[in-house]
Amino acid sequence: MTYLKFYDVEKERFSTAQNVTLEFPLAQRIVKKLARHFKVTNFSGVRKQTTRWCGHAYSDYSISIPKKATLLLICHEVAHLYNKQYLGDWSHSKKLMRTLKRIVHYALKMLPLWVGNSRVVSLLYTSNRPQEAKIE
Ligand SMILES: [Zn+2]
Repeated sequence: MTYLKFYDVEKERFSTAQNVTLEFPLAQRIVKKLARHFKVTNFSGVRKQTTRWCGHAYSDYSISIPKKATLLLICHEVAHLYNKQYLGDWSHSKKLMRTLKRIVHYALKMLPLWVGNSRVVSLLYTSNRPQEAKIE
């Protein structure tokens, strides 16, 4: 699967996570929680990507994410680190989609707890304007 095809499929399949936008400090904390829960023991850190909107996973097991990141983007980058550590694979494969599914389901389950305000989160779930959705 090419990157663009993968990206289209994941946005459609995991639209709930695509509709949750997180500001950097919270996004950073969530990346760390996901890496710990899924035992990505090689994980080495998160930094803010200031020049582009996209995220990236690096060979040193770090991640960069934009100032405002969707929950889906965060899960996508953690899925890359997981697949690299456990399958030796960086590609946008079916295996990445399976890993992503597990991570997204866990993240959506835990999000109200992590955010500490489930009403805010449920509003975000129904938002049609994800770029305006905001969790501090
Ligand atoms: Zn990717």
